[in-house]
Amino acid sequence: MPRIQPPLDSEPMDIISPEMKAAILRDDAGLIGRPFGLTPDNARAIQANARHVALMLRDTATPDRASRAAAFAESLLDALLREHVAGPVECARGCDHCCKTYVSATIPEVLNLARTVRGQAAKTARVNEMAAKSRSVQQYVREDIRLPCPILENRACSEYATRPLVCRAVLSKSLDTCLRIFELKTGEAFAPANHSDAIRMYSLIILRVGLVLAGLPHQHVEMNHALAIALADETAEARWLAGEPVFAAVAMDIGDAKASPLEKVVNGMVAALAPTL
Ligand code: SF4
Repeated sequence: MPRIQPPLDSEPMDIISPEMKAAILRDDAGLIGRPFGLTPDNARAIQANARHVALMLRDTATPDRASRAAAFAESLLDALLREHVAGPVECARGCDHCCKTYVSATIPEVLNLARTVRGQAAKTARVNEMAAKSRSVQQYVREDIRLPCPILENRACSEYATRPLVCRAVLSKSLDTCLRIFELKTGEAFAPANHSDAIRMYSLIILRVGLVLAGLPHQHVEMNHALAIALADETAEARWLAGEPVFAAVAMDIGDAKASPLEKVVNGMVAALAPTL
């Protein structure tokens, strides 16, 4: 089976023949959308899924390719969680402490969420209200404000199937710790369920590599404001894919504004995968 070697920077982009590209895609088929191991030998599966996201995003014949790519990444993350997180997990319906914190997402995730919110007048009004409130406060004080997510209804996520990656991956193994963090503001570290941090990281890498290879912005932005913009314009996805600065006014997550440890991994994968597309 073909195995991709990261090319040296000086290697020409056409180093991989069409036949080799076809062989790589055939090899990818059994890995795409399937849970993979969380050990260092999972690079081939991560490559296959990142290449799949890149090819989805580069398929200009599919107008909703951004939201589809996000849906794919979300579904893969869910599959990884099912495969690897055996417990304990103390998150449950009716527990909404982390839905009153700052939430950010990539634009494709926002567009995918907008698909299922669109047409719901009351929820859209809530999104607009919370977007205005979110814009009036800095990210670092959002934890003190405790604004409820506009998607929250009866203490549960009302758009569970299209919620962003972060909402899926932030799983707690200790409700007591969450209560102390969110209600008593003790400042202690979150207690992630086993493997959930690694799964979130791999999912972020796959989506980010795909976005970079498609020439699209990969940064996370404040979700409420971005969602309000997406809901206000049915052509937002097409315009964003065409390179228009549709979401330029939305504040970027400050975590994305500084150098990320993921950057080296992402850059290496982008260099390795680019000749194979
Ligand atoms: S989208 Fe759903 S899971 Fe995410 S913060 Fe909002 S209500 Fe919570």
